[in-house]
Amino acid sequence: MNDCIFCKIIAGQIPAKKVYEDDQMVAIEDIAPKAPLHLLLLPKRHFSNCLDMTEQDEATVGHLFRVAGQLATERGLSEGGFRLVQNNGVDAGQTVFHLHIHLLAGRELQWPPG
Ligand code: AMP
Ligand code: ZN
Repeated sequence: MNDCIFCKIIAGQIPAKKVYEDDQMVAIEDIAPKAPLHLLLLPKRHFSNCLDMTEQDEATVGHLFRVAGQLATERGLSEGGFRLVQNNGVDAGQTVFHLHIHLLAGRELQWPPG
């Protein structure tokens, strides 16, 4: 059995606020937002992070980035900017082991991150 919470969201078994969906991915609102806008972009195919990504995932990851730009533009962020974050492993703060890109915006974002 697949216990992955993001696979369950993608399958519609757990509710989430979906803001975008196509054949390769979904984008949802983060349940505990770290910024006024905090979306998560999830590939429909499960892989934990870039460490177990295969060649067949490459096009999908590129697609996630392009849609991130599209979602940000639709929200008026192309001028002011936004941040994309992707954590790999426990030391990076990864808590859900289904690859995802965070889209964060709506406040001044600090650099370097904590
Ligand atoms: P990461 O720490 O990079 O693995 O990010 C996981 C993100 O998933 C966190 O920002 C969580 O708030 C978010 N999250 C966990 N469970 C859910 C859920 N059921 N719906 C939406 N976001 C979630
Ligand atoms: Zn998964």
